[in-house]
Amino acid sequence: MELNADFNARVVVHSEQLAWTPSPMAGVDRRMLDRIGDEVARATSIVRYAPGSHFSAHTHTGGEEFIVLDGVFQDEHGDFPEGTYVRNPPTTSHHRREPDRRWRDVEQRRLAATARWGIASIRCRRRRRKSLDEDRSPCPCQGTRDLMSVLIVGGGLSGLTLADMLEREGRDYQLVEARARFGGRIKTEHCGEGAFDMGPAWFWPGQPRIAALIKDHRLAAFEQYARGDLLYEGPDGRVERGRGFASMQGSLRLEGGLEKLTSRLAGGLSSQRIHLGKAVRALQKTEEGITAALQSGDVLEAKQVVLALPPRIAATLHFDPPLPETMRNAMRDIPTWMAGHAKAIAIYDTPFWRDARLSGDATSRHGPMVEIHDASPAMGGPYALFGFLGVPPEGRKDVPRLRQHIVAQLVRLFGDAAAAPRQLILKDWAFDPHTATPLDHAPLYAHPSYRLPAALQGIWHGRLLFAGTEAAPQFGGYLEGALEAAENALHSLKT
Ligand SMILES: Cc1cc2nc3c(=O)[nH]c(=O)nc-3n(C[C@H](O)[C@H](O)[C@H](O)COP(=O)(O)OP(=O)(O)OC[C@H]3O[C@@H](n4cnc5c(N)ncnc54)[C@H](O)[C@@H]3O)c2cc1C
Repeated sequence: MELNADFNARVVVHSEQLAWTPSPMAGVDRRMLDRIGDEVARATSIVRYAPGSHFSAHTHTGGEEFIVLDGVFQDEHGDFPEGTYVRNPPTTSHHRREPDRRWRDVEQRRLAATARWGIASIRCRRRRRKSLDEDRSPCPCQGTRDLMSVLIVGGGLSGLTLADMLEREGRDYQLVEARARFGGRIKTEHCGEGAFDMGPAWFWPGQPRIAALIKDHRLAAFEQYARGDLLYEGPDGRVERGRGFASMQGSLRLEGGLEKLTSRLAGGLSSQRIHLGKAVRALQKTEEGITAALQSGDVLEAKQVVLALPPRIAATLHFDPPLPETMRNAMRDIPTWMAGHAKAIAIYDTPFWRDARLSGDATSRHGPMVEIHDASPAMGGPYALFGFLGVPPEGRKDVPRLRQHIVAQLVRLFGDAAAAPRQLILKDWAFDPHTATPLDHAPLYAHPSYRLPAALQGIWHGRLLFAGTEAAPQFGGYLEGALEAAENALHSLKT
């Protein structure tokens, strides 16, 4: 919402002519004078409290100012009769004791309030003002609800699954995702009728949760294409047919790409509970729970927070009080599975390698791709080959050159027909700040043995928890692990 939002334009409003708009807190109404944003907003309002209404404790991260117009405003700091002017500087908090009649907020700057987030308290943030006039801006410190129960940070497979489980149990939660899309490491690109996974592509028999989830959502799996001969490229670039092994034979893929799964999950959640483009920047322990400050300037408060993201990414957040170095190191010591990798997908109109009785599987000691597989859809085209790049992240920065080398390698392996892909898509996860940190640029030679270490359990009286595949003891790193970790987080949440 944008209401009288141009602060260079003169505005004259008679408040008596404005309707009272209910706030998310019962008995608390406001007349909106100006506002930028919905419930989470910068706003000036007149706020009316019905007898018996109240708001719970909340922090004004950016400060607030108000004048009591009528009655007595009461909070834990005292009683403020009509005519009182109160300025609460940034980061102070208060809660309403006994409401009387009505009071009015003025100059409320960047109020990050409730309903949009469905959160408990009001968050007011005030910018430095250049002049008094400019100061006539908003922060409606109006009513609030109880603290939200669970804030999930991260809308990858794990965070979405936890949200889904909470939603099915009718529990209170909000989910914030830094990117403009859900799915995290699951990312599917589309070309014509084809869907191509730029992150994970496979799951395996013996992984019960992902199989059940796919079945629940009535999606279909199919087997990795592996019919035909394999290729091997030696260090000198010489290609041998029939050497190597079909490492991914028997692996399963999802028709339409794995993003189908995360979009189905997200689509089943209440839209007012899930928020894209909302990166958490800092977490602060409070008496009642945890306050999360977002890059957007919004502030959310919850009784419990679940970090459904790689621990190394979690270690980049600001914690207040600061976490002991042992905890931070424990987070940094957990490698993010596949975060240092890059994938290239070459899309073609015809499956010329299949026509030549090649499976599309190739291993190479020459590069730049070290492992190549067929990435075509279950049925029909367009068809594709994909490869993991073996060049370390630092050597992948010259993308145009890299693309040339990728195509040249495909021609060496599969012949001239590979020279002109309809599309060549690259995704370098190592430089994606929501997945990888510089620590992930070091190569991993084996699948780490994942499990949340003791140092990362029971943080802030058990209010700060981890989900995310790296927290899963049995299937850590895999899609199945993301589901396992969500399940474990659900069991650890206090009701
Ligand atoms: C190239 C590649 C290939 C892979 N292949 C396979 C495979 O074939 N099979 C398999 O099982 N697994 C594979 N994996 C691993 C698989 O992708 C992961 O196990 C799984 O996707 C992890 O899900 P997650 O929800 O735990 O984490 P993520 O998907 O990483 O989700 C974390 C989410 O948190 C968000 N976030 C980060 N910081 C913040 C913040 N500050 N505030 C709010 N949100 C934030 C991120 O944007 C992200 O959406 C592969 C991974 C990669 C990169």
